[in-house]
Amino acid sequence: MEEIGFLGLGIMGKAMSMNLLRHGFKVTVWNRTLSRCDELVEHGASVAETPAAVVKKCKYTIAMLSDPSAALSVVFDKDGVLEQICSGKGYIDMSTVDADTSLKISEAITSKGGSFLEAPVSGSKKPAEDGQLVILAAGVKALYEEALPAFGVMGKKPFFLGHVGNGAKTKLVVNMIMGSMMTAFSEVLVLADRSGLNPHTFLDVLDLCGIANPMFRMKGPTMIQGSYSPAFPLKHQQKDMRLALALGDEKGISMPVAAAANEAFKKAISMGLGDLDFSAVHEAVKVPEH
Ligand code: NAP
Repeated sequence: MEEIGFLGLGIMGKAMSMNLLRHGFKVTVWNRTLSRCDELVEHGASVAETPAAVVKKCKYTIAMLSDPSAALSVVFDKDGVLEQICSGKGYIDMSTVDADTSLKISEAITSKGGSFLEAPVSGSKKPAEDGQLVILAAGVKALYEEALPAFGVMGKKPFFLGHVGNGAKTKLVVNMIMGSMMTAFSEVLVLADRSGLNPHTFLDVLDLCGIANPMFRMKGPTMIQGSYSPAFPLKHQQKDMRLALALGDEKGISMPVAAAANEAFKKAISMGLGDLDFSAVHEAVKVPEH
């Protein structure tokens, strides 16, 4: 079996690369903080010291990095992906970034003869661990087909969405509604609580109504306990709101709901909650404005 490269072993990258190993893929990993590779090595991964060294060794390399600046730095900086990418090799960026960042990376990879696919995912820590992600791929169709066995292990459904940018935009639009819903949900929990309602009963009622959804069901109980162990870090949700709002600006679309939700996430970051789960926006909503 061909060796697959994997760059970025955060919450998502660790779970995704672990799944590949568990299903018999040979994986070479790299992470900026190298010690985060140790657990993967215990499960059979090899380590390379730079992104370039990973690309040199592997037919195709997957990246799962925090944001546009991380995604660009791993490709363009010294010892980065561009130094070794060439004809016959592929690069698949699964990070959530904006379409411009993705296009910049795509052009650079293509100019060296490599093939590029963006493939951001929907689904958090648990779906990543369970191989249940939704994969939103766009770019070179042949690379998509080559990566299908790996996508099959990491996800429950891969989509091929056409040209580069369509995956990024789909992901941002999905996360925009998620961030708006989470903020609205937080407001409702605060209002129910301050109105003297039993929060557990309130969640049971909500779960039987037409607006019931898996996110409210999963996050509600921990939010009322004030427990926010990070599955999807709040700072990344705010990044996604910011990038979705920029897309709205570009298209001239008024999005007051998303803009208000973005403000709540910014406030949460200023309260030091950026590394907690995005549901910690509840704590920012709890704080009175005056
Ligand atoms: P995370 O736990 O914060 O991990 C971020 C990763 O990016 C780490 O490996 C980190 O390396 C690396 N990184 C950050 N800045 C870097 C830089 N300048 N150069 C090189 N590497 C850098 O994030 P995550 O939750 O795994 O999310 C990763 C991506 O997936 C994000 O784009 C996020 O929006 C998206 N996503 C997340 C979820 C989720 O539920 N968590 C779901 C869907 C999509 P270090 O270890 O050295 O810090």
